[in-house]
Amino acid sequence: MNNQPELRRRAREAIANGKLPARLPVRTWAGKGGGASCIVCSFPVNAHEVEYELEFETTTFSCTPGTSRVHVHCFEAWQSEATLEAGTTFD
Ligand SMILES: [Zn+2]
Repeated sequence: MNNQPELRRRAREAIANGKLPARLPVRTWAGKGGGASCIVCSFPVNAHEVEYELEFETTTFSCTPGTSRVHVHCFEAWQSEATLEAGTTFD
């Protein structure tokens, strides 16, 4: 799936549900997908797709310790939403 308005809606949902924070990760790795479910769209990231692994500061984001995996297009959608969100709450 690569439908930006829909992905951005799902990204906002992921932020609202606490699956992803509205802040940028401390570290990001790009690699080949390993079949894990994308945290934004919940489809698996397959081997022919690029997977982004996001690491957040666990002190500020305790819902999902460790890393979160997303598709590259889901990462972009979430990044846009997180930036907007951070602009309004600014913590
Ligand atoms: Zn995805």
